[in-house]
Amino acid sequence: MAGWMFTARSLQQPAGILPPRCLPGYKPGNAFPSPAYAEAKDDSMAIERTFSIIKPDATARNLTGAINAMIEQAGLRIVAQKRVRITREQAQTFYAVHRERPFFGELVDFMISGPVVVQVLEGENAIAKYRDIMGATDPAKAAPGTIRKTHSKSIGENSVHGSDAAATAAVEIAQFFSGNEIVG
Ligand code: ATP
Ligand code: MG
Repeated sequence: MAGWMFTARSLQQPAGILPPRCLPGYKPGNAFPSPAYAEAKDDSMAIERTFSIIKPDATARNLTGAINAMIEQAGLRIVAQKRVRITREQAQTFYAVHRERPFFGELVDFMISGPVVVQVLEGENAIAKYRDIMGATDPAKAAPGTIRKTHSKSIGENSVHGSDAAATAAVEIAQFFSGNEIVG
């Protein structure tokens, strides 16, 4: 993106008019390059998207805003968001990688026990950065200042999910959002 003269703010245009696909930073569903892309100074800055869930233990305790404040203060942008009750089938599909683990049934029961907030986060190295902000799976082992250390009750009821790699982020985002629901 070296030499790119545009910024998101300089590209404001009437609602409903989509930019040409050749515009730097263009992605389907974005009206114009998102601020994260505009802030990227050169190609060495990897702007990524990751998938986030605020889990039922956190929505039950009214922590959605507190958790999202930690996410935003760390520099990640919430570019898609909805509060939903997921079905048993959705939870089983989402955590299928763990289906042989002894805690799988308990995990699925927990994920459908109340509302969750599913989100797409965008920013530089978003996948690893969000994992850092979340902290270790077991809140007792999570670093001070992380979401799980600050808010989570137990290794099972640990308040947040974050994708662990680019490939899983793409699959997880596609399970819950269509392209035009993601607005950078
Ligand atoms: P997530 O995938 O939700 O972001 P994670 O990647 O930190 O969490 P995983 O190993 O993928 O951890 O486990 C998925 C989820 O399963 C955990 O977040 C937690 O809710 C639950 N879980 C993991 N280990 C245990 C356990 N030993 N006992 C009960 N629940 C567990
Ligand atoms: Mg995981």
